[in-house]
Amino acid sequence: MGNFKIHFQSETKFENIDQIIENLTKIVGSERISVDMIDRIAYGKDYWLISNLMTLKGTLPCLPDIIIWPQTAKEVSKIIKLANNYKIPVIPYGEGSGVVGGALAVCGGIILDTKYFDSIEINSTNMTVTVGTGLNGAVLERHLNEHGLRMGHIPQSIRTSTIGGYIAHRAAGQFSGIYGKMEDIVLSMEIVLPTGDIIRSKTYPRASVGPMVDRLFLGSEGTLGIVTKATCKIWPMPEKQGKLSYLFSDLQHCLDAIRETLQARINPGVIRIYDKKETERHFGETIKESKDKIMLIFVFEGIKRLVNLEMQITSENCEKYNGIDTGEKPVDHWFETRFKVSEASEFGPYDQVMDTIEIACMWDKSKEIYDAVINSLLSVPGIYLASGHASHFYTTGVCWYFTFSGIPKEGKDHFTLYNEAWDATISTVLKTEGSASHHHGMGINRGKWMQLEHGEEFKLLQKIKSTIDPNNIMNPGKLYPDEIQKKEL
Ligand SMILES: Cc1cc2nc3c(=O)[nH]c(=O)nc-3n(C[C@H](O)[C@H](O)[C@H](O)COP(=O)(O)OP(=O)(O)OC[C@H]3O[C@@H](n4cnc5c(N)ncnc54)[C@H](O)[C@@H]3O)c2cc1C
Repeated sequence: MGNFKIHFQSETKFENIDQIIENLTKIVGSERISVDMIDRIAYGKDYWLISNLMTLKGTLPCLPDIIIWPQTAKEVSKIIKLANNYKIPVIPYGEGSGVVGGALAVCGGIILDTKYFDSIEINSTNMTVTVGTGLNGAVLERHLNEHGLRMGHIPQSIRTSTIGGYIAHRAAGQFSGIYGKMEDIVLSMEIVLPTGDIIRSKTYPRASVGPMVDRLFLGSEGTLGIVTKATCKIWPMPEKQGKLSYLFSDLQHCLDAIRETLQARINPGVIRIYDKKETERHFGETIKESKDKIMLIFVFEGIKRLVNLEMQITSENCEKYNGIDTGEKPVDHWFETRFKVSEASEFGPYDQVMDTIEIACMWDKSKEIYDAVINSLLSVPGIYLASGHASHFYTTGVCWYFTFSGIPKEGKDHFTLYNEAWDATISTVLKTEGSASHHHGMGINRGKWMQLEHGEEFKLLQKIKSTIDPNNIMNPGKLYPDEIQKKEL
């Protein structure tokens, strides 16, 4: 299994398990707790490639002991207090679409499914929505659309993921250029701490009242508590949606056109560039002139007059850098295919290793990091494909999203090849002053880079974790990988 410290546990290692089950049943009743093997297996995986690979090979990365479905923050609080008494792990579970192993019960324990937290309360004066964090993203967006509103957080996984999962991973949606990432969207939260205490932050546009405690929980990946409610920003449906696309021969020219556009305070909702390989893969059949070119697409949203002006300035910047206007067709094609995720599932059965890695870097490293990662991936024996696109941009930098695929060479297994590809990428990114993850989070597979990513900050993070969660019951093994060893698993 390479260097992953995960193994299939079919037997529980919690001595008092019968007592724990009995007491938990008293909290939620017998209908909302399960120890059936079928449920434990169903919650024994998420969408991390290793989870998928193991499932295809007829095993699982882990096996939780108990699945529980609380309905209120008070019930969550009681569950957590009980878990503290017995020192049994609690793992918050949204819809298991995370791609870094974050929701896996690698130390066994209780999976706390948030599904029942699905309330929606709109405040159309403040333009906020207060939601239960187990709410599915697509259900929320559809509900808002029916009221002429939108939150605008549209991750590719929107149909299979929850608000709690987005907060836990600081997620980024396809329209993040205009509606922001989760940290821009969330105004306040209700959180059940690992001690069982319930805290609620106030909702305000901004304040200067000391450190904002709830910001700690954005990106905490279920290790600091369970977010049960959140108040988020919403917007009116846009008057106009505008689409532009350009082809470039040179990647640096394409990056410069985007950078100048953003730094002129133009805010397209969507900006995506595809390197030559990905342009061929995604647009080769529909846009014949895209051969051997880099595709750049934009979607603008808002008031018609503003959108028209933004489109005009963006076009001028693209033409200045020799972009060739290819009209709306490539953008329409992107809209048609943007939720298609068959690639990863199609590769698995053919015994290939394929994954995606998203990272962040400043503009002055953007081309260097792209070249360095592609080269480092291709230098791993067995990797035959390495490509990239960029899907989130800032006035200050870029999120690159790399895809690799390979077949293990003789004597090597899939897990080793997978590790080598990830090691090659992340070590190159960190060496080139990039950040190890832009929006998928660290979970298990990136946990080993936490120290390098954060440097001196990491010690403080560890202290915060042990202060808030002294018995390490919240999602052990994630973000702080050493804790798995401490627990002697
Ligand atoms: C095909 C595909 C496309 C994707 N596209 C995107 C994308 O465009 N943008 C993006 O950002 N991500 C994307 N992802 C990744 C994934 O969907 C996100 O990480 C998402 O935020 C996970 O939500 P979830 O509800 O499924 O969480 P889960 O996978 O169930 O859990 C993820 C982590 O969050 C914790 N957690 C869940 N709920 C809570 C809670 N209420 N309180 C505290 N912690 C909690 C869990 O313990 C775990 O650590 C994609 C994944 C797939 C498979």
